[in-house]
Amino acid sequence: MNQIFHGGALLMKIGKKMEKSINSQIQAEFESSYLYLSMAAWFEDADLPGCAHWMEKQAQEEWEHGMRFYKYLVSRGGRVELGPIAAPKKEWKDATNVFEEVLAHEEKVTSLIYAMVEQAEKEKDHGTRSMLNWFVDEQVEEEEHATEILARLKNSGNSPIACQMLDRDLGNR
Ligand code: MG
Repeated sequence: MNQIFHGGALLMKIGKKMEKSINSQIQAEFESSYLYLSMAAWFEDADLPGCAHWMEKQAQEEWEHGMRFYKYLVSRGGRVELGPIAAPKKEWKDATNVFEEVLAHEEKVTSLIYAMVEQAEKEKDHGTRSMLNWFVDEQVEEEEHATEILARLKNSGNSPIACQMLDRDLGNR
């Protein structure tokens, strides 16, 4: 039997296919972190320090997501294998364009998480299925935040004053 000793209980060691999916997701989370840090740098350059601060926090959160998968894989006796991270995009048209991309990116991440949920259910990997619940909830929040910010920018016609007000609010994150 493929078992590991973990916290006083015997758990089945994670399957090879799920190990591969989690490694891909670790890579995707760190890619997200790198993308958001690039967006933070763009906002710094655009003199919107509040938006830059928000993006920096977002980048930190994505790093923590990657680590959450990393630690889970280790706890299930899996082997973490880090993949390459490509250089992120570095130019955007305006603040609206940045947040449009944040929303599109988060929608993509949600579909990756949902695919893992379906895989865990199919493989009857209840440990992974349970761990993924946190991410399912997190993705609802991520999409909600991006949608709210985007709506604010669009409703104001992307005006400089609206950008400044948003910048002040996002600086409080
Ligand atoms: Mg994430």
